[in-house]
This record gives sequence, structure tokens and C-alpha cells, in this order.
Amino acid sequence: NVAVVLFTSDLRLHDHPPLRAALSSCDRVVPLFVRDRAVDAAGFAAPNRLAFLADCLADLDAALRDRGGRLVLRSGDVTREVCALVRECDADEVHMAAGVSNHARAREERLRAALEAEGRRLYVHEAVITAAAPGAVLPASSDHFAVFTPYFRRWADLPLRPVLAAPRTVPVPDGPGSEPLPRRSGAAGVSPGLAAGGEREARALLTRWLRSGAARYEEAHDDLAGDATSRLSPHLHFGTLSATEAVQRARAAGGTGTDAFVRQLCWRDFHHQVLAARPDCAWRDYRARGDRWRSGRDAEEETEAWKEGRTGYPVVDAAMRQLRHEGWMHNRGRLLAASFLTKTLYVDWRIGARHFLDLLVDGDLANNQLNWQWVAGTGTDTRPNRVLNPVRQGLRFDPEGRYVHRWVPELARLPAPQVHEPWRLPEAERARYDYPAPLIGLADGLDRFRRGRGSE
Ligand code: FAD
Repeated sequence: NVAVVLFTSDLRLHDHPPLRAALSSCDRVVPLFVRDRAVDAAGFAAPNRLAFLADCLADLDAALRDRGGRLVLRSGDVTREVCALVRECDADEVHMAAGVSNHARAREERLRAALEAEGRRLYVHEAVITAAAPGAVLPASSDHFAVFTPYFRRWADLPLRPVLAAPRTVPVPDGPGSEPLPRRSGAAGVSPGLAAGGEREARALLTRWLRSGAARYEEAHDDLAGDATSRLSPHLHFGTLSATEAVQRARAAGGTGTDAFVRQLCWRDFHHQVLAARPDCAWRDYRARGDRWRSGRDAEEETEAWKEGRTGYPVVDAAMRQLRHEGWMHNRGRLLAASFLTKTLYVDWRIGARHFLDLLVDGDLANNQLNWQWVAGTGTDTRPNRVLNPVRQGLRFDPEGRYVHRWVPELARLPAPQVHEPWRLPEAERARYDYPAPLIGLADGLDRFRRGRGSE
């Protein structure tokens, strides 16, 4: 008998519970990926993620071919494509990973109903996309944790499922045709410094990171120029690396750096369990405060300057230019850039989140939207009115100005600490640098933000 395995955000063969289950109940398996038109229509088909996805699909297909199988690619409506394939190869069952978004839930429900109507079964597997399934730990009187630290304490004690080896063979039935796999090359709008995708790349990166990067993570992860973080986020987003495996291998490697790294992986699970319980919070304020509280304004010109990295605050501009060039941004840069937009410029967080989703290769509904809300103070931050000062943050996390020098070449000859406050230079000297004056004074920004929140 035959099973279909529908791959979504789990583009790997190692540690893949749906594939393992399908192989143990059926003698042939059809690995399927559907390029979901609804996802494209909702504006999620950003060039950077499509380019990375092309790498992931090519690598998955190559790994399946090494095992006697191959990947079937279809595009269109997921329910229709899965049902068509099930009929073509007379499959009895379909296996897939559980998702957390509204879209993923609705997709599961539609698929379950359509398959049942044809006498076939859908198996949805938990803890494939996250290390712990949403709801695996719960506070006494709620359907999710709203504060990270108590979640982390419970999460850290959870026994995780064992990591599964990649199957040695994947026997596929004859017949089902596939669309040609997309190719990465030549795509318009792709960031020039975009990382390579695919499971092989992800596994090599994790191994290198645990061997030579993790040890200095705890003290260096906030150093903007140091590049001391794992850069595993796109792989975790596309599931070319299993979060369960990342946690288990980091724990086995030991050391303080890996403890701090595992804590960050827990943040990922934390945001996923929030979104799973409150899927409307992808675009709505998590902490709705009613009409008296304004979430922010819509300031088009200032927002454009922010997007283009010409706010006049060097560390914010460096971060925004890194985003455009690499399709990725350092976490400290994300915090600074988001705080600047939502608090200093007092622009609605959704506008910034949308821009990040347009460019980030790891752009992820749970992590992006809920981190934006955390920074904007509409989410789970227990100090929603904290405002990051870009000058102080620059001096602290880019003390030698190397991050600014790298991404804002107009200021490459200006040393730290002056590079973080170029507007303080004497007029004649300032004129030598082709760099804009600040969009707004920090005190004025703070004032407006406090007035906006004053009615809280
Ligand atoms: P590392 O420091 O090596 O951390 C390891 C892993 O832990 C990451 O790959 C990621 O999966 C997870 N992680 C780390 N920090 C966080 C966090 N704050 N929240 C959730 N998971 C975390 N991350 C995304 O994956 N996708 C996004 O779209 C995204 N948008 C963000 C938007 C804003 C405004 C902010 C402040 C943060 C956002 N993050 C997002 C979280 C974080 O910035 C990135 O996960 C991290 O910078 C990725 O780099 P890394 O893999 O080198 O991280």
C-alpha cells in the first residue's frame, strides 16, 4: 500500500516523524511538496524565501534520489492537489506536520474532510516544526504561556522525543508526475548576500556551529559586528533542520554557550505556542487595550527612509541595509530597527513586520509577528514601554563601529564613538560625510511615544 507524505515547513529527511510513520505503515511512499497558491496570494512569496526554497527542494529531491525515491512537486490548491495525487497512486493515507497559523489549521481541516470523504486518512504529527508541541506545557488557567520565563522553566524540563535517523531507502510507486523543480538562479529581487538553503547545508552549519561557534555565543551573541550567532534561522524556518535535533545536539555538546543557544530555541517554541493559541495575533495586537490606546501612526515618508536605511541613526541604518543585502539581520539589529520604527517614529508595528516579511529569508509568521509585537509593546514583553536608545545601543553593541562601517560605507572613515552620533560633529566636518541628518530627535520621539501611550 501507498502513503503520501506532504512536506510543508519540514524540508528534510533526518528527524522527520511523518516520513517515519508513513514508511512503517506502507511499503511505498510519495514525498510531495505543493507550492500553495493561497500562500503566494497572501503575499508570502518573497523572492528571498523563494530562492532559498528552491535550494531546499533541490536538495530534498537529491537526498530522496540517493535513497531510491524522488520528490513530487505540484502547485495550486493544496487540498485539490493532494486528493488528485492520492487518487493517481491509490494511496490509503497522508502524513504531514501540524502547523500553528490560521492558514495551516484551515489547510489541515480541509484536507482531513476531503480525504475522509474519499475513505482515506490524514495523520497530522506534532512536534515536527517546533521542539515541543504547542500546548505540551500549559499554565494552570490558560491555553498558553504569555510570559517567557515561566514557559522556559517548564519547557526545559520536558522530555523531548528521540531524534529519528534519516531513512536508508524511500521506495516510491511508479507513475506520479512532477512539475520541474524551481531553480534559484536569475530570480529578480533576491538579496545578493543570501545564504544557501537545503538540508545538507543546514546539517553542516549546525555541526560547524556546535564545534567552533557555540562556545563564545553567550558573551558574543549581541555583538553586532561579531557574527557570533548560528545563522540557523532560515533552516529552522524551512525545517531543513529539526528544532528537536538542534536542541538535543546542543544539549549533548554541553557548555554555557549551548545553554544560551537552547534558550533562544525555546523563544522560538514560545512564540509558536502563543500563535497556536491566538492565531489572530498574526496581525492583531496581542494585548488589545481598546480605543484609548493607539498602536502607532502611518508615516509614509519616514517609513520609507527607515526601509532604505537613511534614518540618520547609523546603527539603525546599518541593520536595515544588512536586511536588504543579506535577507537576514542580526537579532540586536532587529530589536533596534523595530524599536526605532514603533517607538521613536511611532509607526504601527504591522508596517514594519510586513517589510521584514518581504525581505527576511527566515521570515516566519510566529517569530516575526510576535517579536514585532514584543518590541512594540503590544505583545508579551512585560515592560511594554521600554524604548531602545540607538546611540547607547550602538556604543554598547558596536563599540568599535565595525558594524556601521561595514553597512554604511559613507561613514567608514569616521571612528567610534563619533560614528554613532555624526550629527554632533562640527558643521564643516559633518559636511564631508554624505549621510542624512536624523529624521527626528530622540527626545522628541520619546515625547510623542509617551503622549501616544499616555492614555493607557
Ligand atoms: P541564534 O542567536 O543563533 O539563535 C538560534 C535560533 O533560536 C534562531 O535561529 C531562531 O530560530 C531562535 N531564536 C533566536 N532568537 C529568537 C527570538 N527572539 N524569537 C524567536 N526565535 C528566536 N526569527 C525568525 O526566525 N524569523 C523571523 O521572521 C524573525 N523576525 C524577527 C523580528 C524582530 C523585530 C525581532 C526582534 C526578532 C525576530 N526574529 C525572527 C528572532 C531573531 O532575531 C532571529 O531568530 C535570529 O536573529 C536569527 O539568527 P540566528 O539563527 O543566528 O540566531
